[in-house]
Amino acid sequence: MEVELLEATDRPERLICQAARNDYMEDFVGETAFEDVMSDIEGETLEDRKETLIHRLLDHGHFGPFEHPHATIAVKGISRSCMAQITRHRHVSFDIQSMRYVSFDEVDPAEVREGEMVVVPPSVTDPDWVGRNQKTADVDEETAAEREELFRDTIETAFESYQELLDLGLPPEDARFVLPIGTKVNMVMSMNARMLMHVADMRAAADAQWEIRELTEQVLDVAAEWCPITFEYYEEHMKNRKNRLAP
Ligand SMILES: Cc1cc2nc3c(=O)[nH]c(=O)nc-3n(C[C@H](O)[C@H](O)[C@H](O)COP(=O)(O)OP(=O)(O)OC[C@H]3O[C@@H](n4cnc5c(N)ncnc54)[C@H](O)[C@@H]3O)c2cc1C
Repeated sequence: MEVELLEATDRPERLICQAARNDYMEDFVGETAFEDVMSDIEGETLEDRKETLIHRLLDHGHFGPFEHPHATIAVKGISRSCMAQITRHRHVSFDIQSMRYVSFDEVDPAEVREGEMVVVPPSVTDPDWVGRNQKTADVDEETAAEREELFRDTIETAFESYQELLDLGLPPEDARFVLPIGTKVNMVMSMNARMLMHVADMRAAADAQWEIRELTEQVLDVAAEWCPITFEYYEEHMKNRKNRLAP
């Protein structure tokens, strides 16, 4: 998969600080220089003061100010299974590549077999991979080879049937019914910084599936570049904590 930041609020952490300071200022934040907005906060430089305030907000669970900065992220090549999981988050906005208007009639089913157009889970190629509800992998080489072959045969055949149905005149919106849930999809998603932390709380956790965890880790990398004080603190002090319901 690939994850790219498309657009994001400029100077997100300045905005978080302005919104938070608004709550405790007598003056109107809209007419006050940022240096003055931050003058009561501990720290030698403006950057230090931003850090002090943002750490304090996160520490105290004052999450509202993190709802102001937004990021829009493009994701390439996740499975439709992973898409179904991430789109459960109701405060994230999505655009999903359509299977009604995009038909995969040019794809070579032999390449699908090798991972083109369908996500091949690591357990298919790694006999030692232990699934969530398994205690050990416990599979001999012959069985591992057999199940990999079956997986690859199935996805190849699915794409062959799909293309045959298109050739027979079935509309793409109906021919897609025979494609596997592992079929790759591209999407664009937008969310605010608080929601991004919430998604990470739920989806970077050990009980989440490997694919959505990988997606979330890549989103967190993008977030750390965009909003560094917040997401470095999140990574160090908040990720994987208990009671992760809000944000
Ligand atoms: C490991 C794992 C396994 C899962 N397995 C399943 C499964 O088997 N089946 C399944 O259906 N789902 C499953 N889910 C999805 C899960 O139940 C949630 O639907 C999903 O994670 C969305 O998160 P959220 O509930 O925090 O809501 P979000 O949409 O992310 O909303 C964020 C927060 O806003 C608040 N909120 C939003 N809407 C409402 C509302 N209507 N009422 C009250 N509060 C609201 C809540 O505080 C919520 O936490 C799984 C999730 C995980 C992480």
